[in-house]
Order: sequence, then structure tokens, then C-alpha cells
Amino acid sequence: MARQIDVRDPRTGRADYALTCADAAEVEEAAARARTAQRTWLALGVTGRVAALNAFRDALSERDDAMVAALVRDTGRLPVSRLEVDSVLASLDRWCGRAPELLADAGTVPSSMPGIGVRQGPLPYPLAGVISPWNFPLLLAMIDAVPALLAGSAVLLKPSEITPRFAAVLRDCVAAVPALDGVFTVVDGDGATGAAVVDAVDLICFTGSVRTGRAVGAAAAARFIPAFLELGGKDPAIVCADADLDRAAQAILYGGAVNTGHSCMSIERVYVAEPVFERFVDLLVARARKVGLAYPEITDGELGPVISAAQVGIIEDQLADADARGATVRCGGEIRTLGGGVYLEPTVLTGVDHTMKVMREETFGPVLPVMPFKDADEAVALANDSEFGLSAAVFAATTEAALAVGERLEAGGISINDASLTGFVQDGEKNAFKSSGLGGSRMGPASIRRFLRQRSFLIRSPEDKAPWWFQ
Ligand code: NAD
Repeated sequence: MARQIDVRDPRTGRADYALTCADAAEVEEAAARARTAQRTWLALGVTGRVAALNAFRDALSERDDAMVAALVRDTGRLPVSRLEVDSVLASLDRWCGRAPELLADAGTVPSSMPGIGVRQGPLPYPLAGVISPWNFPLLLAMIDAVPALLAGSAVLLKPSEITPRFAAVLRDCVAAVPALDGVFTVVDGDGATGAAVVDAVDLICFTGSVRTGRAVGAAAAARFIPAFLELGGKDPAIVCADADLDRAAQAILYGGAVNTGHSCMSIERVYVAEPVFERFVDLLVARARKVGLAYPEITDGELGPVISAAQVGIIEDQLADADARGATVRCGGEIRTLGGGVYLEPTVLTGVDHTMKVMREETFGPVLPVMPFKDADEAVALANDSEFGLSAAVFAATTEAALAVGERLEAGGISINDASLTGFVQDGEKNAFKSSGLGGSRMGPASIRRFLRQRSFLIRSPEDKAPWWFQ
């Protein structure tokens, strides 16, 4: 009997959708189909693949309202859902524009050995697996799938079981492009289906929690396949004494609370120079109080419900722990159930320290704990005192001063005089540091190279003989 899971609507709290999970045999069948289809896909060449993905882009654009509606049901938020579709359309444009140049045949070039030419001919991994989380269901499914497809791989995608409704619209978009038949397959399911995907593919791209990422990494290592792991974060922001405080408060509030804090690159810790600490907190709190809940109407305020029921318990636990250890709630802090959905206004905490869970563990909610620092050395030490190293932010009066602090941070993407820019700017290559991930950059040109095995043809002309051959 097919395994089914009840899926909850985050705005009503009601389970109103049943997800049928693909089992290992179904995943294997999809993988076998994909491997056959991939040969034709690769033979299309980059021009043919770009044409197919442009057609896919048009299919998504034609169905943008249906996709937004599905994402609204999955995530309970409206403007972010529209933004999500728009950014995927923009990323398809960007990748389709750049792929021909990035995958261009470099031809044969002379080597350092006289008489020998080298011709590089990269070969994609035939089948890439993509496993995605619930916080940006479409965006984080496509962020790896698009470069993989352009590189010439087939893709098996397994979205999160918490936000699976968008997959039906995605399948419609794929079905509108005959060249993608069998090449891009979405399999529904939970962790067990995800594990079956890892077992069936030649390379795995995983976005999700550190805990699951470790399990996926271990399974991939056992199979001897590459794993690209993009995991959790606990991003710090540092506000230097000479920074424009109101600007910093505005950017940090957005970076910490947008999408109800459900972003890996959310600002989750704020360190502020002692002399300006209280002034900064006042500005942050004043701005935070103006950010409302998207309730009762979805168009009402900025913050939608907490999407995952399990996340509610994590946020609650961290707030209770901070309270028990003496933190002060400066605004927000009350988890409320409204119409069946669970909401939290932007929450600013002071009186925090690194013994508290809210300073050490990923919150994934709109919570901004703020702590003073004495000098740059202390700010850097506090920011680096974390198991995570995804991204960070630094605010100072000049770019040079902010960069001087930023260069000392152990993180892959560092926003200067802004926060969470890695969510918007995908051009710069970056790695996830420490427990935040493993593997090559998913941003910038390196992203597409993750799916290619490099081959070199070492060419001697038929007339020529090597001086080292036995005579
Ligand atoms: P999760 O780890 O619970 O689940 C992620 C995916 O893994 C889901 O599709 C799930 O079904 C699947 N899965 C579960 N067990 C599996 C297994 N044993 N083998 C294979 N797949 C399995 O994460 P989540 O709660 O959905 O997502 C939130 C997390 O994702 C947060 O920690 C967040 O920081 C992280 N995240 C990271 C990035 C990034 O780019 N670094 C981006 C977004 C989210």
C-alpha cells in the first residue's frame, strides 16, 4: 500500500492535503528512465538545452498565478511567494544567458609538453539528485536543478513533504516541454523517499538541516558519490560604533524577520558597539513594532505564519530558555495561534549571552537577540563563536572599515552595509563554512561546474613520436 502523509495548511493548522510518498522501487524506476533520457538530453548540446529551459521558463511564466497559489497554500504567505516565482524566472534567464559561455568548448590548446595538445571535454554526471527544504519550496528546488540540467545532467527532485503542493504545477511546466520528459522528474515523499533518491543518483545536492545533511553526507560517502550540502546557519550582524544606526536597524530587521525568519541566511545574532547599543536597540524596536502579521487577511501585514509545526516548538523552547537565563524581551516574544496558524511578531531580545540556545542554535524564526561588544576583536570573536558559518553582515561608516571586520569572519557570504544579500545576489562564488555545509559553490559560475567531471584528451599528432618511447 502506498504510504500517505497528511499535510498541514500553515494558515489554518488543518491537514487538508494527502501526499503519497514514492517508495524506493518507484524512485529507482524514475532514475532508470532519467538515465536513458539523459543521453538524448546531453546530445542536444548546450544550445538545445538552453532552448528547452527557455521553453520551461515560458511555461512557468504562463502558470505563474497557479504556482503562486500553490506556494501560498504551502507556505501561507503571499508577497514572498510571488517574489519566489519571479526570482526563479530571473534565475532561468540568467543561467540560460550564461550557460553557452560557461560550457563553451575551449578547443585544443598546446600543453607545456612540446608536441602535445590538451583538449578539455567535461562530462556531466548522468543523474543529479536534488533534495529541498520547506522554507522556499520552489526557489530551493530550482537553485540546483537549473544548473544541473544546463550542464547536461538529468535531475530527480524530492521537495519537502511539509510544502509539497507546488510540485503539481512544476510537473505541468515540465510536461509542457517535451525535451524535459524523463530528464527532470519530481518525486514526492518524505525522508525515506529522500534516502532512496540518494541511493539512486550519481551526485546529490541537499539543502536542509545540519542533522539531515550529516545523514545525507554519510550515505553519499558510503556510495562514493559527491554531495553538495547547504545546511543551517546562525548568521551574525556586527554594527560598528560609526555605522548609520537607523540604516543598520532597517536592514537587520529585514534580514532577520523577512519570511518569518525562515531563511538560512537570516540574521539571528546582532552584535553592537557598546557606546551606541541602546540607541541601536531603540531604533530596531521602533521599526520592529511597525511590522505586522499577515492576519486575518494574507495581504494585511508582512509576516506570515510559522510554516512548519515542528519549528514552533523550537522557537518556543529558545525563547523560554532565554527568559529563564535572564534575557529581556524588548518587543514581540508572544507566540500566538490565530485562526489555526501560529504567528510571532518580530522579537528583539537584550540581556543575552552565548550560554543561551537563542545565541547558539538555529532559530529559523523572526527573533533578533542583540548583544554589546567592546571592540572589533570582541565582535569578531563573538561572531565566530558558532558551529555555523553560512553568512554574516557588517555595518560601518565606510566600506573599507566594514570590509576590515568582514575579512576576519568565518563565513562564506558576507554582506557589507546590508544584510542577507546572499538571498538576492547569486553572482559571487561562496562556500558554506563549518557545519553550514560542504562542497563547491552553488553561487556564481562554479555552480554549474559542480555537475561536470573534467576530462582531458591529451593529443599527440599521428606523425609525431615520443622521445621516451623504447626505440
Ligand atoms: P530537513 O533537513 O528536515 O529536510 C530537508 C529535506 O531532506 C526534506 O526534503 C526531507 O524530506 C529530506 N530528508 C529528511 N531525511 C532525509 C534522509 N535521511 N535522506 C534524504 N533526505 C531526507 O530540513 P528542513 O526543516 O526542511 O529545512 C530547514 C533547514 O534547511 C534549516 O536548517 C535551514 O537553515 C536549512 N536551509 C539551508 C539553506 C542553505 O542554502 N544553506 C537554504 C534553506 C534552508
